[in-house]
Amino acid sequence: MAKKTIVWFRNDLRVHDNPTLHDAVSTGDVLPVFVLDSTLLTSSRASSNRNRFLIESLQDLKKSLQELGSNLVLLENLDELVDLAKKQSVSSVHYTIDYTPYARSRDQQMKKRFEDIGIDFIGSAGHLIVDSLRGIETKNGKVMKVFTPFYKQWAQIDRRSVHEKPASLPTIPSNVNVGTIPRIEKLTQKSQLSEDALSGGESAARTRLTEFLKHDLERYGHGQNDLGDDSTSRLSSYLHFGCISSREIESKLGNDGPSVAFRRQLCWRDFYHYILLHYPDNTKQEFQPRYHGAKWSVNKKHLEAWENAQTGYPIVDSAMTQLLREGWMHNRARLIVGSFLTKDLGIDWREGETHFLKWLIDGDMANNNGNWQWIASVGVDPAPVFRRLYNPTLQQQKFDPNGEYIRRYLPQFKNVPTKHLGEPWSMTDEEQKEFSCIVGKDYPVPIVDHKEARKAALEWYGSIAANAKD
Ligand SMILES: Cc1cc2nc3c(=O)[nH]c(=O)nc-3n(C[C@H](O)[C@H](O)[C@H](O)COP(=O)(O)OP(=O)(O)OC[C@H]3O[C@@H](n4cnc5c(N)ncnc54)[C@H](O)[C@@H]3O)c2cc1C
Repeated sequence: MAKKTIVWFRNDLRVHDNPTLHDAVSTGDVLPVFVLDSTLLTSSRASSNRNRFLIESLQDLKKSLQELGSNLVLLENLDELVDLAKKQSVSSVHYTIDYTPYARSRDQQMKKRFEDIGIDFIGSAGHLIVDSLRGIETKNGKVMKVFTPFYKQWAQIDRRSVHEKPASLPTIPSNVNVGTIPRIEKLTQKSQLSEDALSGGESAARTRLTEFLKHDLERYGHGQNDLGDDSTSRLSSYLHFGCISSREIESKLGNDGPSVAFRRQLCWRDFYHYILLHYPDNTKQEFQPRYHGAKWSVNKKHLEAWENAQTGYPIVDSAMTQLLREGWMHNRARLIVGSFLTKDLGIDWREGETHFLKWLIDGDMANNNGNWQWIASVGVDPAPVFRRLYNPTLQQQKFDPNGEYIRRYLPQFKNVPTKHLGEPWSMTDEEQKEFSCIVGKDYPVPIVDHKEARKAALEWYGSIAANAKD
C-alpha cells in the first residue's frame, strides 16, 4: 500500500513550483491541508486586506487541487492537524520552511508533537530564491549585514530546479471532512478593506507575472522609481502568500539590464529574510544597539495626519492615500513616507511598521521590519543619516515630475500646475483660487517645515551617535 502524507499549505499557496508538494508527491499519497491559524488571522497584527487576499488565494488553490483530482482540507487549529495525521495514519507531514520567529517556534513545537507519534515532519525550501541562507557569510564566518556583498555571494549560489505542477493527485479519502473556506466577511472589517485591491490566488499571480514580463520588465531599472509610470511588478503580495515562487520568477529572467535590476530587487527579499533569521529580536528592537530605548517624538496629531494622508505634503499624502485605497504602495513612495515619518516627524519607526502591517496586502514581517529599520537608519546596511533623509519637494520633482501620481490620488490638485505640486502653500491667494485648491481648506497646511525638521533630525541622530558605544 502507498504511504500517505499530508501537505500542510501555509505561505506556499500554489501548485506550480512548490517543492513541498513535489517532495510529498514523491513520498506517497498526498492529503492537502490548510489550518486557519487564529494567531495569524485574528491577532492584533492581522489585517483585513491580507485576510481577504488569503481567502481568495485559498479558493483558487482549492480549485487547482480539485482539477488535479484532490481537494483542500480546511482545519480550525493545530490540534485538528495532529488528529487528522493520526487518524489517516500518515507517515509524514510536509511544509515549506518559514522564517518568522512565530513560525519557527510553532514549527519546532509541531516537529516534537509529530515525532512523538512517529510521524516525520519534513520542511522543504521554496519561499525564497536561495533557501540555503545560512551558508552566506563573510570571509570571517560572520553574518553579512551589508546588502551589496550579500548580493554578490547570493548571485553565485547554485539554484534548485523549478518543478512542474503535479500531473494528478489522489482523491481525498471519503472519511475526511474537507471543511469550508471562511467567508470574507467573517475575517475582515469592512472599514479596513481597501476598495481597489489586487485579487489573491495563484491564477492571478501567474497572469500578473506574464503581463509584467511581456509589457513592463523592459522598463525596469530606469523606470522602477517612476511613480507615475507605476510599472513595477506588483508581485509582492503574491510572493508573501507564496501564490507564486520567487525561484520560478527568477528562472524566467534573462541577463540583460532590466532582468539584472529586477533580480537584484528580488534579492532584497532574500536578504531581509536572512537578517530576520539571524536577528529575530529585530522584530522588537533596532538592529543597532545605540538606538535601543531612544526617545522618539510622541505626537499623536502628527502620527494621525501621516496615517490619514493629511501632512500637507502632496507626495506624502498621495502615497498614504494609495496605501489606504489599494492596500499597496510603490516602493519609492514607501521610502518617502518612511523618511517623512521617522526623520521629518521624528516618530518611532515601529508606528510606521504597525500601520503598514495593518493595510499592506504584502505586509510581511521580514520585509516590512527590514525596510522600516533601513529607512529609519537604525538597521542593517547602514549609511549616513542624511542620505536617507529625503526632501519631499525634491522627491516629487524627481520621481513624479509630471504630477501624474499625485493627481491620481489627490483630486484637489487636478487643476494645479505641476510646478506647484511640491509646495502648494507657496501659491499666492489668487493662484489658489484660480486652481481651486485653497491651502487650509481644500488641502492641509504643512504640519512641519521640512528645513527645520531636517535640522532637528540631524541633531537628534547626531546626539545619539555622539554617545554611542557600538
Ligand atoms: C518602509 C517600507 C516597508 C516595506 N514593507 C514591505 C512589506 O511589508 N512587504 C514587502 O513585500 N515589501 C515591503 N517593502 C519593499 C518594497 O517596497 C515592496 O516589496 C515593493 O514595493 C513591492 O512592489 P512590487 O512587487 O511591484 O516590487 P518590484 O519592484 O516589482 O520588485 C519585485 C519584488 O522584489 C521584492 N522587493 C523589491 N524591493 C524590495 C525591498 N526593498 N525589500 C524587500 N523586497 C523587495 C518584492 O518581493 C517585490 O515583489 C517595504 C519597503 C519600505 C521602504
